[in-house]
Amino acid sequence: MIPRPEPQLIARLQGFGTTIFSEMTALAIAHDAVNLGQGFPDEDPPAAMVEAAAQAMRAGHNQYAPGPGVPALRQAVADHQKRFHGLDHDPDTEVTVTFGATEAMAASLLALCEVGDEVIVLEPTYDAYTAIITLAGAVEVRVPLRPPHFTLDLDALAAAITPRTRAMVLNTPHNPTGTVLLPDELDTIAALCVENDVIALTDEVYEHLVYDGRHVPLATRPGMRERTVTISSAGKTFSCTGWKTGWACAAPPLTRALRTTKQFLSFAGGTPLQHAVAVGLGAEDAVYDGVRERHRRRRDLVVDRLLAADLPVHRPAGGYFVTLDVAALGHDDGETFCRWAPEALGVAAVPVSAFVRDPGPVRTLVRLAICKPDAVLEEGLDRLLRAREHRP
Ligand code: PMP
Ligand code: GLN
Repeated sequence: MIPRPEPQLIARLQGFGTTIFSEMTALAIAHDAVNLGQGFPDEDPPAAMVEAAAQAMRAGHNQYAPGPGVPALRQAVADHQKRFHGLDHDPDTEVTVTFGATEAMAASLLALCEVGDEVIVLEPTYDAYTAIITLAGAVEVRVPLRPPHFTLDLDALAAAITPRTRAMVLNTPHNPTGTVLLPDELDTIAALCVENDVIALTDEVYEHLVYDGRHVPLATRPGMRERTVTISSAGKTFSCTGWKTGWACAAPPLTRALRTTKQFLSFAGGTPLQHAVAVGLGAEDAVYDGVRERHRRRRDLVVDRLLAADLPVHRPAGGYFVTLDVAALGHDDGETFCRWAPEALGVAAVPVSAFVRDPGPVRTLVRLAICKPDAVLEEGLDRLLRAREHRP
């Protein structure tokens, strides 16, 4: 659907409209549908984190945090990077706390891109990257992950690099496809970045939700420690998407650059939540294993159920989502399907076409969130399968 022009909005943001996630959640609420659209979990963060947030408020941590983030959280992020990924980051000069991964990405791209610089992204593309690149006046260049397996074509990536390429945004595990970049793919990407003097911005918000293999940050590959901004957040790992507490780890020159923009986007907020996330990051392995295993089970529940219903579906290696081809349910357009399903079937999903420029190859794909309790997933799938008997 092409949105109407917004008379007061600047030209380069025309057409961005309301995010597909908000739109589909609004439809789900309006029709009391099972919401397998927007990716948020139906569970609370670990009790120790909730208690730590309340404790921090009671202890008077209610004013602005230091611009780069409270020292306890910067230290906890540095410890986390060392513990899980073997990466050493100085919490004072290389770790910055942000308002979610989204602000980390915005601060980085706005700080690092001149007008006209090219930024490579993977397509399907998470909507915020496109909007931020556009706000920065940079030029987005898309490299497709092709269905049905959504693997990265490294030759296409190499071919997308030009003398104007400033940065690559890499999201692994990937939203919406669940693709997890493998170490040898990361090595090739690293070589391309080094050879062409390209900076990498990695969105690793699903880093603890890898079901096959393991998460490897690009910053661990040769030559990348100095040219990567590693971005993540607490939302998915600790089921607190509304806390919007994220971070960026990068070498001092990159950190100084992104801190310069970050301080004028929001300065520093969420002080008590920063304290609570510091506690969360220090959790024992069982907490991290728990969130991963819970979501692995949910992924398998959804995929197995769809396969049992004779629907061809790809088992994603990581992340919050499974993509389903509604052609197998007799429907020929994913977007039409997603606008129709909340009222007609009582279930909401997100069309993958919202993440691409040319819907062609993904026109019939819809994204299902798996980050829900089993009973919600079962009910959502029951309703979805009724699409076989109904048409918009
Ligand atoms: N990146 C990706 C790939 C996402 O799927 C999301 C949504 N959860 C975000 C960033 C947003 O992260 P945050 O809420 O920490 O800003
Ligand atoms: N990342 C979430 C998703 O992909 C949505 C976040 C948002 O609503 N902006 O569903």
